[in-house]
Amino acid sequence: MTDNGDAAPLVRVENVDKYFGSLHVLKDINLTVSRGEVVVIIGPSGGGKSTLCRAINRLETIDSGTITFDGKPLPAEGKALARLRSDVGMVFQSFNLFSHKTILENVTLGPVKVRGMSRAEADKKGMELLERVGIASQAGKYPAQLSGGQQQRTAIARALAMGPKMILFDEPTSALDPEMVQEVLDVMIGLAREGMTMVVVTHEMGFARRAANRVVFMSEGQIVEENTPEEFFTNARTDRAKDFLSKIL
Ligand code: ADP
Ligand code: MG
Repeated sequence: MTDNGDAAPLVRVENVDKYFGSLHVLKDINLTVSRGEVVVIIGPSGGGKSTLCRAINRLETIDSGTITFDGKPLPAEGKALARLRSDVGMVFQSFNLFSHKTILENVTLGPVKVRGMSRAEADKKGMELLERVGIASQAGKYPAQLSGGQQQRTAIARALAMGPKMILFDEPTSALDPEMVQEVLDVMIGLAREGMTMVVVTHEMGFARRAANRVVFMSEGQIVEENTPEEFFTNARTDRAKDFLSKIL
């Protein structure tokens, strides 16, 4: 194989430690994510899953170790940081849509403001993305007029509008009513099938089984286990993982 960069991991996290004051929240984390790979991170609350995701697009700084994206250390500021944030999309549990903007405006804001796209082109692309996540008919409405599932699909379209190289999903269905979970997971499964690189914090086993290449179990700031979903869900190796699975399955 030639070393053309494409074969190198998209994300490489090496020996990363992070503290909040005296609280050691990431403990010597090592994780690589290849292009096109879907990695599910699972584990008990407070284990550091969100902090790790946030560190990957530099919403959090780290205290030691290195994180590279696309072969380069994460930039600290300026245009390079803005570029990183559009290359690494993020979808949160709480949607984080702009309440005073329409669904279409939520999707086009980034491309117009950050990418300098024309309004006409951004609208055209935005409508295509809303079509793709199944809510084109809602384009002129405001977030509060949509269901939680529709709002989260808007958030996914907004991340896609920046043309990301990967998307981080932090418990994207945890705030949803049960009947809306699947419509969001279906969009995510579609993205996975199309080859999007994804890191997904979720306890949705069905999604992990259908879409994940790898499950990473995190607890108390450490990666305790890493395995295929089949192996992890049927044959967890550690007591910590077995104990966690016995509570959620
Ligand atoms: P998870 O997503 O697995 O539930 P988090 O990454 O959110 O875990 O949190 C890991 C630990 O760090 C928790 O103990 C949490 O209370 C703490 N923590 C997270 N963010 C902050 C912060 N901004 N300041 C102080 N402590 C934090
Ligand atoms: Mg979290």
